[in-house]
Amino acid sequence: MQISFSPQDHAFRRTAREWLLANVPRDRAPHSGRPARDFALAWLARCHAAGWSGISWPDEYGGRGLSQERLIIWYEEYARARAPSVLDCTFVALNHAGPTLIACGSDEQKAFHLPRILAGQSIWCQGFSEPGSGSDLASLGTNGRVEDDHLVVNGHKIWTSFADIADYQELLIRTEPGSKRHQGLSWVICDMKSEGITVRPIENMAGAVHFAEVFYDNVRIPLSNVVGDLHDGWRVAMNTLAFERKIAAIGLQLELSVKVEDLIDLASPPRGSSMADRLATLRAEAAAMRAMTYRTMLRDPATSSDGSLVRLCFAELAQRVHRAAMDILGPDALVEGSWTHDYLESYSETIAGGTAEIQRNIIAERILGLPRTRHP
Ligand SMILES: Cc1cc2nc3c(=O)[nH]c(=O)nc-3n(C[C@H](O)[C@H](O)[C@H](O)COP(=O)(O)OP(=O)(O)OC[C@H]3O[C@@H](n4cnc5c(N)ncnc54)[C@H](O)[C@@H]3O)c2cc1C
Repeated sequence: MQISFSPQDHAFRRTAREWLLANVPRDRAPHSGRPARDFALAWLARCHAAGWSGISWPDEYGGRGLSQERLIIWYEEYARARAPSVLDCTFVALNHAGPTLIACGSDEQKAFHLPRILAGQSIWCQGFSEPGSGSDLASLGTNGRVEDDHLVVNGHKIWTSFADIADYQELLIRTEPGSKRHQGLSWVICDMKSEGITVRPIENMAGAVHFAEVFYDNVRIPLSNVVGDLHDGWRVAMNTLAFERKIAAIGLQLELSVKVEDLIDLASPPRGSSMADRLATLRAEAAAMRAMTYRTMLRDPATSSDGSLVRLCFAELAQRVHRAAMDILGPDALVEGSWTHDYLESYSETIAGGTAEIQRNIIAERILGLPRTRHP
């Protein structure tokens, strides 16, 4: 796909490239805990101070209202500069909590939270999944009872990334007693310091502590923290998931494209023609994935299901890229740090944000028009 950039776009690219060259931290970001939080917030605050945070958000919410083309340029340069991964603990706030508030939040919610997100002053996490309610999100049971001007929340979430270091949570709960599935849910802003919240971190197979279980024991949340209308949380959550699968894709995918080039360097000279073929295929697949993402971003109107195409393509390619890295490194993978860590993490790509099977179901039903999955 050919995108045409104006002379002003090229000037913008040069400015971005120069700023990134002078400012990208040299240290590798810590994986988890307070060090990860401090590192990510300091980097975001630095971007913000120079006008590089939320560049496509509307001016009125602290962004620069720049076009999708400029956003593409920014992320191309960001990846090229090997800046800190966009998939850090600021990911939820910047890529789906903030955009959800812009789309569905009240004026007060936007005025309070959006400037803090962009300035690197708050970390958000996502409390959607529960034990037994991951793919089948509509079956969730954590509930909020309306009591005067508060919700009193009880229940249990799981796999909540960065819950241990987050300030706020996008929390999806059942607020209408007796309601079933998509009905009667609400999307609320939960202050993670509220009384009655217990966070129990979970270590993943890469040895990192990214996610946690979260328990709610009579947690009081003001009704003014409901985003959208009370009991209208499914609609709001679908906005969140569309942002998570689509907007978020661009930074991650460009990062992966740069990784493919790093992999080609790692393999040079490739041992045997089959590895050379494999690397050439990965480079072509990365280019195809980028073209699909750009097309999705620039298509007007885009559909909310487009995100599943780019998410699925990215997730499976990321696994193939890291598998190739292990084959190139061979026994050296045992002593090498970052490729091996990222290889172990890549297993989660086809689970997080909706599994590969669920993305395929969405593509089948909503894009290809095949019959819908029946729920009991
Ligand atoms: C790294 C990581 C970070 C995460 N972060 C968060 C977070 O911050 N917040 C949050 O809320 N959640 C988070 N999750 C949870 C994630 O959204 C769920 O793990 C995911 O939705 C799958 O749910 P589950 O684990 O309950 O698996 P299940 O839904 O039990 O699925 C088990 C298997 O059955 C398959 N399956 C289920 N239903 C169908 C179907 N209808 N058709 C075909 N196959 C099906 C699935 O594809 C999967 O292979 C994270 C997960 C990971 C791995």
